[in-house]
Amino acid sequence: MSKPPVIISGIQPTGNLHLGNYLGAIKRWVRMQDEGDCFFFLADLHAVTVYNDPAELRANIRAMAAALIAAGVDPARATLFRQAQVPAHAELCWLLNGTARIGWLNRMTQFKEKSGKNREGASIGLYAYPVLQAADVLLYQATRVPVGEDQKQHLELARDIAAKFNTDYGVALFALPEPIIGGPAARVMSLRDGQAKMSKSDPSDQSRINLTDDADAVAAKIRKAKTDPEPLPDDPALLDGRPEARNLIGIYAALADETPAAVLAKFAGQGFGTFKPALAELTVETLRPIKDMLDRLAADPGELDRLLGLGAERAREVAAPTLAKAYEALGL
Ligand code: ATP
Ligand code: MG
Repeated sequence: MSKPPVIISGIQPTGNLHLGNYLGAIKRWVRMQDEGDCFFFLADLHAVTVYNDPAELRANIRAMAAALIAAGVDPARATLFRQAQVPAHAELCWLLNGTARIGWLNRMTQFKEKSGKNREGASIGLYAYPVLQAADVLLYQATRVPVGEDQKQHLELARDIAAKFNTDYGVALFALPEPIIGGPAARVMSLRDGQAKMSKSDPSDQSRINLTDDADAVAAKIRKAKTDPEPLPDDPALLDGRPEARNLIGIYAALADETPAAVLAKFAGQGFGTFKPALAELTVETLRPIKDMLDRLAADPGELDRLLGLGAERAREVAAPTLAKAYEALGL
């Protein structure tokens, strides 16, 4: 029997797990636990590329671990760990910094978005963020990386770095990772702006639905979500040019495990006054069991730390040989 594929993906433990993360990434993580050897990690080393209050970060790490487990990530079936507890990530990142090119990083749109007009004032870490991401993936010889659409470019960079390293040093060390994009909702957009993705770091909490939001908060956010005055069409193609409408239909479809066409078949001809309450109810009902479990887990930080510790132990073991070979290839 051939070895199962290695699957890896991470999430920053900053802010709350939101519907975009859940539908775009975590739902697939949960499914993939049966498809390969899964490594899921809290990207706490990525988190410190911007300032975070340390006490808040510490609390957020546990909150995110709780949210992932509540959403279905099972520490008995997948290796769930914190990047900062596996020093090989930072070490390999440094080794790869010698291979990554400034010209490649200059093309990364996420850095442009996140640094905005204040490029000179952005941290080196924010700029080198995709190199750490390459290390995260390459360390485990992962071939399958489930990510949202927004991370595709970083994955391509990881492939470029891996290929150049292998060529420059004449080794067949790094496997080339494939992004696994798609899933229920590859790109959930902000509730305030159909052109911007739903994001943990959006300053407006109204822009996203957090897994920790209670039913009233979810309903209020959906009620106030930006829309247009037109009724819903019967064909998804007619949502072109209506990004907010498309987004809400996409969210409904992903939550209901239906196609957008099937959702439109139900609501065609109706306005948002009818659709929004239906969407709110579906969202609340889908998130309810997750939120209940999340609240229970969050009350036991010791258990969360124990589970993360076990995951880190396994991750360190699996990462060690590849890191050792990278040092060796470089002549170190
Ligand atoms: P930040 O704003 O801090 O970057 P984020 O909301 O983008 O936060 P990440 O931790 O960067 O979240 O990403 C975690 C995972 O969720 C990644 O796989 C990413 O592709 C996915 N993801 C993030 N936002 C969305 C979204 N709006 N729709 C679908 N997937 C998303
Ligand atoms: Mg992001």
